[in-house]
Amino acid sequence: MKGYGVFSWAGREPRVGYRVEDSVLDVSDLVPGTDLNDFLAQRRETWEETHERVRERADSDLIPLTAVDVLMPFRVADYVDFYSSEEHATNLGKILRPGQEPLLPNWRHLQIGYHGRAGTVLVSGTDVVRPSGQRKPPGADAPTFGPTEKLDIELELGFVVGTPSTHGEPVPIADALDHVFGAVLVNDWSARDIQAWEYQPLGPFLGKSFATSISPWVVPLSELPRVPRTPQEPEPLDYLRTEPWAYDIDLEVVLNGETISRTNTRHLYWNVEQQVAHLTSNGASLRTGDLLASGTISGSDPGTFGSLIEMTWNGERPLELADGSTRSFLEDGDEVVLRSPLLGEVSGRIRPG
Ligand code: MN
Repeated sequence: MKGYGVFSWAGREPRVGYRVEDSVLDVSDLVPGTDLNDFLAQRRETWEETHERVRERADSDLIPLTAVDVLMPFRVADYVDFYSSEEHATNLGKILRPGQEPLLPNWRHLQIGYHGRAGTVLVSGTDVVRPSGQRKPPGADAPTFGPTEKLDIELELGFVVGTPSTHGEPVPIADALDHVFGAVLVNDWSARDIQAWEYQPLGPFLGKSFATSISPWVVPLSELPRVPRTPQEPEPLDYLRTEPWAYDIDLEVVLNGETISRTNTRHLYWNVEQQVAHLTSNGASLRTGDLLASGTISGSDPGTFGSLIEMTWNGERPLELADGSTRSFLEDGDEVVLRSPLLGEVSGRIRPG
């Protein structure tokens, strides 16, 4: 894998580095600063020029990855989380609204999403404190307040906006990729009991805003392979119309060292061009450092699901782990690592609330 991030090493000040597999190259002379934002704010031609110079040096003065501490790679501006996987949306529909049509009528026409909390996006390796909140179990008369009993993960692909756009001017879908620098892995930690009680009618709020973890190395889009995908049906409206394609990135979910799911971003129904076109279609502008996450990535089989609520069907079918224990949702002390050969990894351990 190859990507840009911020690291400190041997007691030195934080600086920008370029990771190549298990080594890091100090590129602070080419990309100055203690985060990537000034670099991200440039245009694609500048990114590519710099990237060319970085690649020319990519076998000199390498620092072992194990010797560096990683820091937040960029200051997150706005954070939007989409809902782009048809399989995930269908599974959640079946779980949360049993007996009804799982996919709501708008889903194939536009991209469902919500504005998340940029200030609680954390770099990989940061512990996650179990959140408390209101939850009302089925059959209970009234809600109670306390630590979530349904702490979950969401395996997602996150896009990092570089070049900003102008307020009041939608970004045409043909120009969308000019604004996107690269991608990271995202774990959108979710408290399902808090979410279930609060989400109607305005969508997720405190059940998700407590923490979102990202991988520390931002991989340029040019390093990520694409595959065509089957045409969308019905055909989207003009402003969302593009050749159907998806990224082809293998992903896995590792719980306490054991792989519990393997999937791929090619399952996503909506792609990042469509995300950018839709997000700006009302004139809302992009800012440098915006994080646009895909939504949970699930395939069609249980071994390819990107969240525990799907893998255990909301706790009805607990996972049996190799150490003999079972899990419906996360327990204190559990460590989750989302991993990809192309994007690296994002890890987090649960601390009691
Ligand atoms: Mn999510």
